[in-house]
Amino acid sequence: MKSNTIKYYSTNGRSPEVTFKEALLKGLAPDGGLYLPVLFPTVSPEELQSFSGMEYYEIAFAILNKYIGNEMDGKELLRLCADSYNFEVPIEKISRHKYIMRLDQGPTASFKDFAARMMSRLMQFSLAKNNQHLTILTATSGDTGSAVANAFYGLKNIKVIILFPAGEVTPVQRKQMTTLQKNITVLEVSGKFDDCQRMVKKAFLDTSLSHISLSSANSINIGRLLPQSVYYFYSWSKLAARIDDKAVFSVPSGNFGNLMAGLIAARMGLPVKKFIISTNANDEVPEFLRNGIYKPISPSINCISSAMNVGHPSNLPRIIAIYGGMMDESGRINREPDIESMRSDLYGVSVSDDDTRETIAEAWRKYQILLEPHGAIAWKGIKEYSKSGGKSQSAKQLYISLETANPAKFSEELLKIVNFNPPLPLSMEGLNYKEEKYITMDNDYPALRELILKFAKAE
Ligand SMILES: *Cc1c(COP(=O)(O)O)cnc(C)c1O
Repeated sequence: MKSNTIKYYSTNGRSPEVTFKEALLKGLAPDGGLYLPVLFPTVSPEELQSFSGMEYYEIAFAILNKYIGNEMDGKELLRLCADSYNFEVPIEKISRHKYIMRLDQGPTASFKDFAARMMSRLMQFSLAKNNQHLTILTATSGDTGSAVANAFYGLKNIKVIILFPAGEVTPVQRKQMTTLQKNITVLEVSGKFDDCQRMVKKAFLDTSLSHISLSSANSINIGRLLPQSVYYFYSWSKLAARIDDKAVFSVPSGNFGNLMAGLIAARMGLPVKKFIISTNANDEVPEFLRNGIYKPISPSINCISSAMNVGHPSNLPRIIAIYGGMMDESGRINREPDIESMRSDLYGVSVSDDDTRETIAEAWRKYQILLEPHGAIAWKGIKEYSKSGGKSQSAKQLYISLETANPAKFSEELLKIVNFNPPLPLSMEGLNYKEEKYITMDNDYPALRELILKFAKAE
């Protein structure tokens, strides 16, 4: 290993620094913290400019190679990037200098494909080399589970166990997980997403499971996070007129992996003016920005943007960390972050279900742009932000709103709002004809422990 390899530290500060491969395979640090690179490699203005003529997977390679180039052969990494990103990333103009980036063209029609596909391939590559095996344990509020199940399906060295909260994922999301089988086990938990997430975290810290190599595929895995910073570079490079054009990104946020990836891109040198944190009624982070007091919302509030029903975002300790603070996994702040600096980079907006519906209706009526609840919250965030700062904003300000799921995944809701069923992407056709298999369980950790022991062993 060369000496300039970037190491990864734990946000709790009580675990040794590790290599990318170790952080990737571990997921959570032994002290319960989240891994972050000790430094962010930079992208020079010349390199930024060169991105405008590149394909998505080439930009992905350029970014990721800066982090893992010393741990992995370049040709191999380029091949994995090309294999992961073999779908379109459409950017639609909504009005002057305002754009929607559609991250919904992957195999599960969710932006989580961007992270899961790259992470699974990096993991399989690392494991196969030494004939190691791994069990992925992950909680989902909808889209993570289907993206992870799809990304890992059929991989030889990896088993996957997915927990989802009963009644909180759409039938389509459920079918995307439960119709695969093979190395994919799906558990329906009678509880909330936060309960699923709590049980998963408990399993990782459970010493009686330490003989099983457990890893996480949630946004807490750094291998999921780094690939997500790529689409920020991609959209900017396709839209910015000049190298000093600073973009405003609106990020529909739940566990804040997406936002964290954007912050990483900015630290690497991407010209960003502001990130709009767009949330549903689970507004604990916009509230924190406002008054400096962090109060998780428990239980989380059910909104139609179901993948964002998170009352205590798992990536928050990372965000706090890059602003110089320290937050543990319970949400306690052990060292205050630089809140003024956070306020100058971030703008929080919380959007009600009624306003979400109204935004979908209006975008369709005015622009013939079809949004689903998560992307609508992001778009509403841009409208709120541009209203708020009226006079100080240039008429040429570039805005990029992230659309994180395909409208067809929320057809029931959309039918009520726009009076038609959104067209089904190819990847979703046929789900209704496949057999579903999943296990129903109580919100009870010992039961989960038993199931992990059973499935991690099974051949
Ligand atoms: C997961 C998800 C989000 C939230 O992303 P985070 O990285 O958890 O903030 C938003 N929209 C959709 C459709 C999602 O699946």
